[in-house]
Amino acid sequence: MKDLIKNVITKQRAFFNSKKTFDIQRRKELLKNLKKEIKNNEKEIEYALFKDLGKSEGESYLTELHFVYSELNIAIKNIDKWVKRKSVRSSLLNFPSSDYIIAQPYGITLHISPWNYPFQLSIAPLIGAIAAGNTVVLKPSEYSLNTSLLLEKIIDNVFPEDLVKVIQGGPEEAAELLNYHWDYIFFTGSLNVGKIVAEKAAKFLTPTTLELGGKNPCVIDETASIKVTAKRIVWGKFINCGQTCIAPDFLIVNEKIKNELVNEIINEIKHIYGDDAQVSDSYGRIISKKHIDFLSSLLNNENIIYGGKIDSENKYFEPTLVEITDFNSNLMKQEIFGPILPIYQYKNFNEIDKIISRYKDPLALYIFTKKRKFGEKFLMNYSFGGGAINDTVVHIVNDKLPFGGVGNSGMGKYHGESTFKTFSHFKPYISKPFWIDLPLRYPPFKKKISFLKKVLKLIE
Ligand code: NAD
Repeated sequence: MKDLIKNVITKQRAFFNSKKTFDIQRRKELLKNLKKEIKNNEKEIEYALFKDLGKSEGESYLTELHFVYSELNIAIKNIDKWVKRKSVRSSLLNFPSSDYIIAQPYGITLHISPWNYPFQLSIAPLIGAIAAGNTVVLKPSEYSLNTSLLLEKIIDNVFPEDLVKVIQGGPEEAAELLNYHWDYIFFTGSLNVGKIVAEKAAKFLTPTTLELGGKNPCVIDETASIKVTAKRIVWGKFINCGQTCIAPDFLIVNEKIKNELVNEIINEIKHIYGDDAQVSDSYGRIISKKHIDFLSSLLNNENIIYGGKIDSENKYFEPTLVEITDFNSNLMKQEIFGPILPIYQYKNFNEIDKIISRYKDPLALYIFTKKRKFGEKFLMNYSFGGGAINDTVVHIVNDKLPFGGVGNSGMGKYHGESTFKTFSHFKPYISKPFWIDLPLRYPPFKKKISFLKKVLKLIE
């Protein structure tokens, strides 16, 4: 593996240095080919996602394929516009000059992806990296192996390995990859591994995007519409079996409506997954037995008010609601990343500030309220990756909204044009003629100081 990695990096470095990735038409062509190859493998992709995570065809299309097609279409349609040199107004001090900004690819980039949306979280960053003219080495997750192997096949069919290459493996292979000097690293995964990546990247001063997780609070005040709130929470929490980085991790509900909301959440779970979610073809599975064990350990000593059934052999974990009173429990100390929904009832709004402050910089924050202004003020008060008033998860679908974390939930952003920007250095330069060279800026200043100040004051 060590030799393979070294070899690929050497080839990609040489390819990038050859400036072949600067050809915009070629970038577009490759993205079109990628789209075609994905179309040709659609059934296989859906099947791999089913084998890895029990995802239904509908869920796979909605949350993985459709997302990737949109990102591809946006990049193919806009790449000419994105790469175009931008002209900006020049500064009087430089008169006469023409001032520009151009998008420069970073060079060779490393992408490390997780297992929960293993297809789209691997392909979406790659689209922007290629559109911007970089090379890519992708290390997908060792847990979603069916999808990871298929990703390798698709990529091998579209790209030469000196442009894009998949390296399979787990922490050991990732650690080996991180020993090399990359020009950009794009990591999606957990906070702890994100810190390892950042540390290794710092050795080479490599710019890094870290898309991490967090414990996402979801507040419901007494004015919220119970039925719609329950629907939107159940959808966002239990899609992909709760293994969604921006799923609401726990609820903070006004005591006046708590019982009614819990009942409605249970009704909604039964409505969309039936009385037994294990036989529903819309309900997914946990990625591995190890993750099932972790999730079941979180339920120790907790007050389960609905669900709790586990079939470890079949990686099934029932949608589960837990009533909480203590934020020091294991369940409330870490990101759950599974189908357990803790519910806390608050008496007055002052409590909420303390709770949210415990989970600094979550990847997402949600509030359900009919008081729109109040909802907006609430979101203004906290630092978080992205969020919604009266919904969960869906802010991810708008490519015009940059997606990413802050602080503990990461750094950097992507989706749509933001991905292209992430993988580009915006290089400014000015261009001046020789025919005039104003003497004002050249020493000695003594005789012209008062005139110089007058001129500068005009433009301050
Ligand atoms: P993880 O951090 O365990 O693994 C992510 C990737 O890092 C995998 O490819 C893995 O092989 C690799 N890796 C593992 N150990 C490594 C090491 N020591 N050095 C380098 N690489 C290493 O995360 P996961 O379990 O795959 O995914 C779940 C986490 O990812 C959750 O915290 C979730 O919130 C987060 N996540 C975030 C986003 C986002 O967009 N912000 C999206 C999906 C998942």
